[in-house]
Amino acid sequence: MNVRLEVCPMYSYSKINSYFNCPLMFKYRYVDRVKVERFEGIEAFLGKRVHETLEKLYSDLKRQKVNSASDLRTYYEDRWETKYSDDVRIVKKGFCRDNYLSMGRKYIADYYKKNFPFTSSTTVSLEQKVNLKLDGHSIVGYIDRLAICEKDSAYEIHDYKTSGSLPPQAVLQRDEQLSLYALAVRNMYDDAKKIRVVWHYLAFNKEFGYLRSEKELEDVSNSMIRKIGIIEDAVKEGDFLPNASALCSWCEFQKICPVHKHKFSAENEKSKVYGSGVELVDKYALLKVRQRAITDEMDDVRDALIDYCSKNGMGAVEGGEYVAKVSESKDVKYPRAGDTKRKELEDYLRKANLWDKVVGLDVFALRRVLKETLLDNRVADKIRGFGSEEISHKVSLRKRKEGE
Ligand code: SF4
Repeated sequence: MNVRLEVCPMYSYSKINSYFNCPLMFKYRYVDRVKVERFEGIEAFLGKRVHETLEKLYSDLKRQKVNSASDLRTYYEDRWETKYSDDVRIVKKGFCRDNYLSMGRKYIADYYKKNFPFTSSTTVSLEQKVNLKLDGHSIVGYIDRLAICEKDSAYEIHDYKTSGSLPPQAVLQRDEQLSLYALAVRNMYDDAKKIRVVWHYLAFNKEFGYLRSEKELEDVSNSMIRKIGIIEDAVKEGDFLPNASALCSWCEFQKICPVHKHKFSAENEKSKVYGSGVELVDKYALLKVRQRAITDEMDDVRDALIDYCSKNGMGAVEGGEYVAKVSESKDVKYPRAGDTKRKELEDYLRKANLWDKVVGLDVFALRRVLKETLLDNRVADKIRGFGSEEISHKVSLRKRKEGE
């Protein structure tokens, strides 16, 4: 792959944001400029058609033409049919193009009803390109609709969202994209003393608007300069790690991305014995599940065998081809690390000058001390008092001998 460590000095909010979503995607797209087959997701397709329809609504309004709700619906459907092709990809399982077509119809109908007769603001421009200069960098962007509010004469930056999720208001209050555009608008118009950013979440028929203060605009300016600095350092260092997330489903670089490429190469690199990489993983996972089930079943049968021998006073049981020998042993266990009794035992051994002999409470050394050292009975009993007797069983199998 031809790596060109240079980056176009022109930025956009989505370009900056893409680095912070996934540095590797940023590298593929803007540094290496990898040419891949790009696909358009149905969500983006729907967004474009809805934007075009609202653009028509306001563009016609500027010429004093008020479209009816049904005019808009027809326009939307025409645009959909003209532009739709089989290349539009539907990622979400269980949905078809008609679901998305209907979603767009609803968004437009709800917006129309809520905002008719569209007199709360005067449209200045639609799809307005802005170009902001920040610390020697250029940031370009497009405002869906720039308007002036009838009530307080604030400049309004309207953004139409067709996303199926509604961000918390705190996220919108901190949003940097529209604040950047607000900075650009302040530079464009001397009378832009008040600037409001407005989101229309069409899927929820909700509108959120916030005035942006001078301090907020200054903060976003500093934040963008800092982010661009981070990106330019990464470009210099060649430091672009993948950041896998839900966004991967819409990433056009999955086939070359180290996180996802196995999904595409597995079919071509079949293992001779078990098949593709995917099949290997599935087989291994299945065997692990079976192994767990077999271990559990073996424990149950072993317990039943021990129980059977115990009830019948037997030490071995003969099967068809094997003999199972069940032996019982008694052992004294001392408190383990973390057990409250353990500290007490350690203190006692130190007090009895036995600590060095048991080498930091090695239980084997402790047993040896109890067995081999001539201890005062009181001391020995006290130490034994910390122990508890446990019975354990051993089950061993051997093949039956001929004639047995
Ligand atoms: S597939 Fe995911 S991890 Fe890989 S480059 Fe794309 S967004 Fe990043």
